[in-house]
Formats: sequence, structure tokens, C-alpha cells
Amino acid sequence: MGLLDRAGARLTADVDKADILVVNTCSFIDTAKQESVDTILEMARHKTSGSARKLIVAGCLVERYRDEIQKSIPEVDAVVGTGELESILEAAGLSMPAAPASTSPFTILTTAQAAVTHPGKESQSGTHKYTAQSDRAVAVGPGFIPDIESTKENGASAPAIAYRPEGDLREQQGRFRRDDWQGATHLLPTYLYDESTPRFLTTPRSSAYIKIAEGCDHPCTFCVIPNLRGKFRSRRFESVVAEAQSLVARGVQEITLIGQDTTCYGEDLGLKDGLATLLDELARIPNLRWLRFLYAYPNRITGKLLETIAKHDNICKYLDVPLQHASSSVLKTMKRGAGADIFLKTIQKVRAAVPGIALRTSFIVGFPGETAEDVTVLEDFIKEAKFDWLGVFSYSHEEGSAAYALEGQLPKRTIESRRRHLMKLQQKISKQSKQQWVGRELVVLAEGESEETPLLWEARTQFHAPEIDGKVYINDTGELDKLEPGRFYKAQITEAHDYDLVARILSPAL
Ligand code: SF4
Repeated sequence: MGLLDRAGARLTADVDKADILVVNTCSFIDTAKQESVDTILEMARHKTSGSARKLIVAGCLVERYRDEIQKSIPEVDAVVGTGELESILEAAGLSMPAAPASTSPFTILTTAQAAVTHPGKESQSGTHKYTAQSDRAVAVGPGFIPDIESTKENGASAPAIAYRPEGDLREQQGRFRRDDWQGATHLLPTYLYDESTPRFLTTPRSSAYIKIAEGCDHPCTFCVIPNLRGKFRSRRFESVVAEAQSLVARGVQEITLIGQDTTCYGEDLGLKDGLATLLDELARIPNLRWLRFLYAYPNRITGKLLETIAKHDNICKYLDVPLQHASSSVLKTMKRGAGADIFLKTIQKVRAAVPGIALRTSFIVGFPGETAEDVTVLEDFIKEAKFDWLGVFSYSHEEGSAAYALEGQLPKRTIESRRRHLMKLQQKISKQSKQQWVGRELVVLAEGESEETPLLWEARTQFHAPEIDGKVYINDTGELDKLEPGRFYKAQITEAHDYDLVARILSPAL
């Protein structure tokens, strides 16, 4: 959207007003594929009726069914995979004007330049030292030679990407193969955006996501995301910092860091404790009120990471760690390892290091071979761990995943009843734990009038990530006539429901 916007396209969410229709797709599970195909077909009707000139399909479905999309849906004029984002301009018949001069306070260098200006392995970034070892490692500070062009991650002069040894090993083991995906290109995406890539924010003005890494090297047998997104690769440290600074300068007050696995951040750049170092740097940006990250991998929650969360007031006391299951035998077949005992120790460590932290996780039920005993192990674990937020998802049997070849597939009915059972259990746990919030005074971010009724406002605390967790409904604005979306207020929790809370406003939070 940012590229199209900068190239002069006017963006609209109203399909009847559009000349060019772009469907951004997902294809990691069956339901996502179905939704993507249904939307493409719906948009194709708009094209045949003559209201739109072009139909472009972008995203993960293209990585998987590139040829088939164009063969089966002739209304589609062009496809744009996840590794070729910039080709959306050509597909739309637009060209890119010259990028405006960078306003980044950083000078970004190649490793060779860093070695010249900063001999030895250590580079200095603000108050942090980190080791520059890979081709894409960078150094900042006064006196460095500016050379933004040669560090472009996707330009002709971009240096070769250095992956993590795990990624290279998994590649040799065939983790990223797409051979049996008809029509998929064999080239894995290597694309990474940077701070100079134009962005068009669709989130409320006060909040933004920043993707800090792309791809994944983990071997989870149920998952085809690595085949779709490629090997794990981190964005440059300074690029993320520069983007965060520019977002905050534009009025963003809450930043959520994302990536398929945020906790591996920087390993391919030779950074130790990369995510902790990045958080530490970002937390120092003036006027950034809330900073969080999603999708932590359980065995990568280090003491340093927890220390960093605890240390900064503006790092939300919130941890999202998808565990997928708790039975060690299911986790073993999932190729994730660990089990309930290890996870409980991790949770204990997290809660001890960051008192009051909110924990979110997600589980998959119905993995091939999952027994009733495995579900009991998961159930006991959920009772013991008492997560603040929890999602249970039904296993989706995905062609191209290692689990596709496994025997012991369960009937859909069984999977659904296990899912419902666990969600009911969590509802009870959530209801009890939310009661303990009543009476607490917390800072909330007002998001706007409730979709259900204009008599209520919706808000979030630092313990609620955008879009995924419960809500705080404001039914009393106290002495204020009205609230403003995107502003922070002090509020008192007055009621608790299964997942949602009700609060009254005490005063603006300065
Ligand atoms: S860590 Fe997440 S994205 Fe990576 S393979 Fe496992 S489930 Fe898929």
C-alpha cells in the first residue's frame, strides 16, 4: 500500500470506486486459503461487470499456487508473491518516483565499511555494544561513511544474505522445499523491507506494527510458513530503530514488534540477545508509551530478555508465547520438544522476573495421533498455568507439511469437541482471574466508540495486545465530557466478565 500510495495511486477500501483491485492473500491453513479464493472470485465478478480494470492477487497464496491462480481464474491480471513486493507497481501499471531523502539520524554501513571505520569486532550503537559479524551487520555513529544504497536489502547491490546456521542446516534437510507444490516457484523469498520502504498505516493513528524479521527456521511439522516465507532473516538493527523513530514522530505511541519468531531476532546478524538489545534501544525513544513484541519461541525467553521487559516502564508487561501443546509426546511429533513440566518452569521464571506480567499462548488440538491422555495433560497444564489470554485452534492438515504424511488423523468432530472443551475451561479460568482486576487503577488507551453501542468506548491496557485480546469497555467518562481516540487515560476497573472488563475514567494520563 505504501508503494502504491507513493507511486500516485489513491487507495480506497470501497471496491466500487476502485480501478485496480488488489487481494492480499494468506495460505497457511485451509480456512485461510478458502477465504482468499472466495475473495478473489468475488473481486473477479467486479472486474467482469466492468467496474474495475485490473485484478492483482498478492501474498502467500501466490507463493503456493502461482500458476494455478492465473490458469483457473483468468480475470487475474497479475500475481505478486511475498518476495517480490515491488513488482506490484508494474502490475498496477505505475512506476516509482524517486524516494525522498532519508531523514534517518543513522548512517548505515556495510560490514566492510564498519571494519574500516571501527576496527575489531565490536560496534557501538547508542549505549549498546554489539558484534558485527555478518554481511548485513551495520555500525552507527558520527564519522561513519554514508552509503545507504549499498546496504539496500533487495537492490542490485545488496550484499548476500547471511542466514543462521540452523537455517542452512534445515535447508539441507529439505525444510523449505516446494517441489510438490504445483506452480510454486522454487526460489524462496528473500525480501525484507527497510526504513525507506514507504508504508501506509491502516492501524489507528496511535498504534503500529513493525516487522523485525521474516521467515522461520524452526522445524514444526504442522507448519508450512517456512516454505512460504523462506529462511529466517532479520532486518538491520538501525533500520528498525529508524522506522520506530519515524513512526513515533508521526504520532504513533504504541509499537508492536512482529515476525514469525521475534525471539531469534539478530542471530543471523551476529547479535547476541538481539531482541533484548533492540527493545532496550527502542524503549529509549521519547514519547513511545507502549512497546511490545509478539510470537516468542518458548526456549528463547532468556533472562536478559525478561530483565529488559522489567527494566523499562514503557515495555508492556506482556508476553505472547505460542506453546502449541503441553503433552511431550505430541510436542515431540510436532518437532517442537519440551512439555508441561518445562513450560511450567519457564512460566514461573517469567512471572518471578516480571511480576504481574500478562501471558498469552495458543494451542493446536487434534494433531495426528493425539490421544485422550494427551488432551488431559494439556487440560491439567492449562489449569495450572492460568494464562491471561489463550487461543485453542483445530489442527489443519496441510499438504507440504511434514505432518501431512503422519498416520492417526483424527475425525473433525473429535478435534472440534476437544477445542470447545478446552476453550470452555479457559473461559472459567479467565472469568476468575479477571475478577481480580476489579478495583485496580490502570492506564488505558482509548480506541474509539464501541462497535456494539455508541454508549460505550473501547480501550486497552498494556496487558491487552491490539486486536487479539479482550477489551476494556468504558461506560463512565468521569469528569470528562468526551474521550479522544488514541489518548491515554487513568481508569478504574469496575466490572469483570469472562474476557472483557468495564472501567470508568479517572483523568487523562499525562
Ligand atoms: S515457529 Fe511458528 S512459523 Fe516457525 S515453523 Fe513453528 S509454527 Fe511455523
